[in-house]
Amino acid sequence: MKVKLLSITPNAEKIIENAGRTSYQSYEKQTANSYKGFIKMLVKRGHGSVLEHAYASFRISGVSRALTHQLVRHRMASFTQKSQRYVNESNFNYIEPDDIKNDKNAHELYTNFMENIRTHYKQLRDLGIKKEDARFILPNATESELVLTANFRELRHMIQLRGEKAAQWEIRRLVIKMLKILKEKVPSVFQDMEIDEENEVITIKKL
Ligand SMILES: Cc1cc2nc3c(=O)[nH]c(=O)nc-3n(C[C@H](O)[C@H](O)[C@H](O)COP(=O)(O)OP(=O)(O)OC[C@H]3O[C@@H](n4cnc5c(N)ncnc54)[C@H](O)[C@@H]3O)c2cc1C
Repeated sequence: MKVKLLSITPNAEKIIENAGRTSYQSYEKQTANSYKGFIKMLVKRGHGSVLEHAYASFRISGVSRALTHQLVRHRMASFTQKSQRYVNESNFNYIEPDDIKNDKNAHELYTNFMENIRTHYKQLRDLGIKKEDARFILPNATESELVLTANFRELRHMIQLRGEKAAQWEIRRLVIKMLKILKEKVPSVFQDMEIDEENEVITIKKL
C-alpha cells in the first residue's frame, strides 16, 4: 500500500485560525504560534466547520477494491479512481490478507484461484468481450489506485471512523498512513488522534 500526499493547503493552520477568528473579530490576537491554542479549542469544542477551509489530496495505490469500495462511501470527499472499463486488467495485481498469506493451505487455494481468474479474464478478452464486461469476474482483491481530496473536517471524520477497532484491517492501515502524514504537516488539527501501532488502531484523546 502506498500513500502519497499530493497537495495540502499552504499555511493551513494559519488560514484556519484566521477564518475562525472572524467569528470573534479577534484578529489582533494572532501571533506566530497562536494557531496552536486556537485550533485546539476548535477541535475540543467540535467547531468542525472552521476546519473545512483547508484541504489535502492523496494518491493511494496498492489497495484492494474491497478497501476502495468502503472509502468512496465518504460523500464529502472527492475521488478519481482507476477504471476497470478503460484499463486492461489481464495482469491485475491483487491484495492478499495476512490471515490467508500465513496459512499455507489457504494461501495456495487463494493464489490458484487468482491465477484462474487471470486466465479466464484473458480468455474472455480473447473472445472479444469488452473490458467493461470481462471485469465482472474480477475479485474484491483486485488492486486499485485512486486520488482522494477532502477538507480537514472530513479527513478527521474518515480517519476516526476507519481507524477504529471495528473497522476493517486494510482501511485501518490506510488511515494510519494518512494520519501520520497529516500529523507531520498540520499537527494541531489532528492532535487528539493517536496511533496505536501494535494494534493498528487510532484512538481519540480527550483534549
Ligand atoms: C466499522 C464500519 C462498518 C460499516 N459497515 C457497513 C455496512 O455493513 N453496510 C454499509 O452499507 N455501510 C457500512 N459502513 C459505512 C457507513 O455506513 C458509512 O456509509 C460510511 O462510514 C460513511 O460515513 P458517513 O456517512 O458518516 O460519512 P460521509 O459520507 O463522509 O459524510 C460525512 C458527514 O456528512 C454528513 N452527511 C453526509 N451526507 C449526508 C446526507 N446525505 N444527509 C445528511 N448528512 C450527511 C453526515 O454528518 C456524515 O457523517 C460501515 C462503516 C464503518 C466505519
